[in-house]
Amino acid sequence: MSKAEIFDIIIAGAGAAGLSLLQFLMNDSKTSGMRVLLADQRLKPERDKTWCFWDDRALPDSHLLAHSWDTLGVRALGRDFEMPLSPFQYHCMRSDDYAREILNRARNSPNVTLIQTGIEDFSPDEKGAAMYTPYGTFKSPYIFQSALKVPDFEHMRVDISLRQHFLGWQIKADRPVFNPNKATFMDFDIPQKQAVTFAYVLPFSDREALVEYTFFSCSLLSEKEYEQGLADYLSDRYDLRSEDYKILYREKGVIPMEDRRYPALYCDRVWNIGTMGGLTKPSSGYTFSRIRQHSARIVDALAEGRDPAIRPASSYRFRVYDIMMLYQIWRHPETAVQIFHDLFHKNRIELILRFLEEKTHPLEEIRLFSSLPWYPFFQSIYKMKRRIFSGA
Ligand SMILES: Cc1cc2nc3c(=O)[nH]c(=O)nc-3n(C[C@H](O)[C@H](O)[C@H](O)COP(=O)(O)OP(=O)(O)OC[C@H]3O[C@@H](n4cnc5c(N)ncnc54)[C@H](O)[C@@H]3O)c2cc1C
Repeated sequence: MSKAEIFDIIIAGAGAAGLSLLQFLMNDSKTSGMRVLLADQRLKPERDKTWCFWDDRALPDSHLLAHSWDTLGVRALGRDFEMPLSPFQYHCMRSDDYAREILNRARNSPNVTLIQTGIEDFSPDEKGAAMYTPYGTFKSPYIFQSALKVPDFEHMRVDISLRQHFLGWQIKADRPVFNPNKATFMDFDIPQKQAVTFAYVLPFSDREALVEYTFFSCSLLSEKEYEQGLADYLSDRYDLRSEDYKILYREKGVIPMEDRRYPALYCDRVWNIGTMGGLTKPSSGYTFSRIRQHSARIVDALAEGRDPAIRPASSYRFRVYDIMMLYQIWRHPETAVQIFHDLFHKNRIELILRFLEEKTHPLEEIRLFSSLPWYPFFQSIYKMKRRIFSGA
């Protein structure tokens, strides 16, 4: 391959965002003929993430789903909420299944080139932009990147920097204990370790489930602490001792939950996508569905011959809501649990999910906020006023 080869589109990073963008490009008849380069340091499908999301449509790639649930459960402050999701379903996709499908399609497409290489930097260029790798320099009018932090990342203003961190075990129990129709979204009725602490349960059958012990906090735990938390949860909630189950798979994760203003561009003609594009919702960590919606918008623009929009991932209004909630999670985790309790206790799940997707209108948001304790939100606005009144 010659150096400085030119492509119609370069996708730098083949994680959820890069693969999703490639999938949407290959699916659209107006973009499927474009010459695309996909680059990543690792182009082998690996199971390291289980992506869950909700949707109310029939999905074109539903054959890739590992499981779907019709009901969500939440436990908080001694109450157990069971919420039928219709018209939504809660879906789960494994990273290896997704990567295998998209990479196989790409390998069979004459227009897509895959390169396994480290990515070092990007810069604007007379052809659009250039991507620098040890393998050579590649150019395109459009680069979409999820691999690198923007150059001034460490100097950007961040007032609240939390992380969602967890350890999950996919276990097989020796007896039926799970309900495969119901995913436990958040079970807060476990010891709260001076942080928002909850368990998350995705049952794939009555004996098999991925169970995660999750924190919203600044610092990570030791491996032993996560493991002890999981073992205690399985024992307390399902009466399962260690000899009653086998661990089939482990998943560790750290997801940023912060008020950093992730820029839309790395530099001119290089768009940030995925986590680097600020697609991770600060107050929940959910990213996958937002990535897919972003991919659809990018491909719509390219199909119409337009440049993709350069704008923040969330509107000002939803940035403010996220900052208000982040402040409570950070400074008053016990109040945050009360807020989650009231949110699920007093509102329809359909409204909550649309709110979390940032698809509600202001009147619905007023209704939703009026069901929650008001003092913490005034407190958040007061404490975060500089951030909120300087554009959030
Ligand atoms: C364990 C885990 C579980 C998650 N579960 C959910 C979930 O259930 N629902 C949800 O909505 N969100 C979830 N998330 C959050 C989010 O959806 C994922 O982090 C998602 O993978 C983000 O996609 P991305 O493409 O931005 O980043 P990644 O998927 O991390 O992809 C980045 C890619 O860039 C490549 N790369 C990085 N640096 C370089 C370099 N220098 N050179 C070449 N390549 C490079 C990496 O190899 C990788 O393939 C989860 C996150 C984790 C960590």
